[in-house]
Amino acid sequence: MIKSLRWRLQIWHAAILGVAIALFGTAFYLQLQRSTYGEIDLELLSGARVLEGSLRTLPPPRPREGERPFFPAPRMGDGRQGEGRAPGMGLGGGPGPGNRMPDGRPGRPGPRPNGPNGGLRGPNGEPGGAGPGGDLWQGPPSPEQHLQNALQLPPFFARGPRDTPPYFAVFNPEGELMHAEPLEDVPIWTAVSWPISYRTVGPNREVLLRGPGGTLIVVGRDIHLLVDRLRSSLVQLLVTGLGVLGLGLVGGWWLSGKTIQPIKQISDTAGKINAANLSDRISTTGMDDELRVLATILNSMFGRLDSSFKQQSQFTADASHELRTPLAVLMSQCELALNRPRGNEEYKQTIGTCQKAGARMKTLVEDLLTLARADAGKLEIEPSKVDLKTIVDEALALLQPLAREHHVELACDGCPAECWGDVRRLSQVIANLIGNAVHYNKPGGKVIVITSIEDEYAAVEVRDTGCGIPGEAMPHLFDRFYRVDEARSRQTGGSGLGLAICKSIVDAHDGSISVDSEIDVGSVFKVRLPRWGKTKTPASLPPG
Ligand code: ADP
Repeated sequence: MIKSLRWRLQIWHAAILGVAIALFGTAFYLQLQRSTYGEIDLELLSGARVLEGSLRTLPPPRPREGERPFFPAPRMGDGRQGEGRAPGMGLGGGPGPGNRMPDGRPGRPGPRPNGPNGGLRGPNGEPGGAGPGGDLWQGPPSPEQHLQNALQLPPFFARGPRDTPPYFAVFNPEGELMHAEPLEDVPIWTAVSWPISYRTVGPNREVLLRGPGGTLIVVGRDIHLLVDRLRSSLVQLLVTGLGVLGLGLVGGWWLSGKTIQPIKQISDTAGKINAANLSDRISTTGMDDELRVLATILNSMFGRLDSSFKQQSQFTADASHELRTPLAVLMSQCELALNRPRGNEEYKQTIGTCQKAGARMKTLVEDLLTLARADAGKLEIEPSKVDLKTIVDEALALLQPLAREHHVELACDGCPAECWGDVRRLSQVIANLIGNAVHYNKPGGKVIVITSIEDEYAAVEVRDTGCGIPGEAMPHLFDRFYRVDEARSRQTGGSGLGLAICKSIVDAHDGSISVDSEIDVGSVFKVRLPRWGKTKTPASLPPG
């Protein structure tokens, strides 16, 4: 099995071209053969028709006792020659045929004219004219002579650019030869079932025509020169066909090479791309549409891989950076404590600081783990009927102390909103949003949480009167480790993973999360989740 595309193209090309040339050549040759044979057959038939006409002009010979006549007697009034002539042979009164052999050789002497000028008189005593040379006339021709004189191929048949002279033979119904030209080479008699049939005997082509009274007329000629000519035409056709095939194959090889050139270019570029070098792209200039589509798809795939690799390395760098701070705190506190003996109170303080650093590290590691699971599609979701209003009430109760600390008022509004989801995960989302609304609020500000039902979704909205989010930060808000205000986030202890985790959880529930914000006025975070008992399809969720 050939694996090379170029070779496969070439083989197909050769096969199709070969078949096309063979079909064309065969059709052309058959047509040539048909027209050549058709021309010869027509010519032979026209000669046979002339002989048939001549036979019809002959009166029926007087049958001998017990014998049936050769030809049917001509009917009265049919205007044919021979009518009213001597019953003996009664040859027509016009001058005899050209009296030359088909090849131009002088033939037998023509019949004596029997017309008005001939000296012959019919049996009924009607006068005949004195024909030329009438005085040399030796008496009526014998029946054989008569036949010979009557049966001649027309002069045009014998002349012209023919390769070989024709020949003919007339047989009576019993298959006996009546007359033949030339006498040395008599064609074979055959019983024919069709009025006209053709045959090829050796180098000769013959027409067999059923004549009057059951006679058989055979006219033929040697066609070996024509056959040779046909054969040389066939050789010419074969040589031309092979030449065209060869040219086609060379052209096809060049064309297939040109066709697969862009594929080679694509594979060369793709081969150079690896984890360390994802910025290269396949050049699509001058590419055909089909391959440009492939190259564009590959380029966009490389683009996605590139950004994914960048995100991964950024994520690893950010995670290390986040862990480094509590680790540094932990290390320095331990060093400080071990430096010299300390009092109980100092040890207590050091251990407290270490505990906080450890707790921060634990939260960070848990968040990273959640995101890693979400990325792998392995975020554990235990779905059940969940009322968002109940979750909101519980979260507000939990975050009340924090709100008091920040002098922020918490409020709740809305109706029960039952959705399909994991209580633990959804509580995490709502607590995170309310926590952010408190953290990024102003003293004396307000946070209001509203639950509602929207067609096929249960929704929860967290509105605050905080600092707001600048427009340029909006597209990155759900990115990992993204913080709008680094300093403020450090104060709140945020790692920039909260909203990324919220989005992962909501996505895992086939829900959506959106944000709307105005600087110094406040922000609105809205989560939509599939309603309990309704068909939930991610595609049916409205954008933002
Ligand atoms: P963090 O843990 O730092 O709060 P988040 O992912 O929860 O991280 O939030 C990302 C950033 O979005 C925050 O650093 C903050 O600047 C901004 N942000 C989040 N919620 C609000 C809000 N309600 N009002 C203003 N800014 C907010």
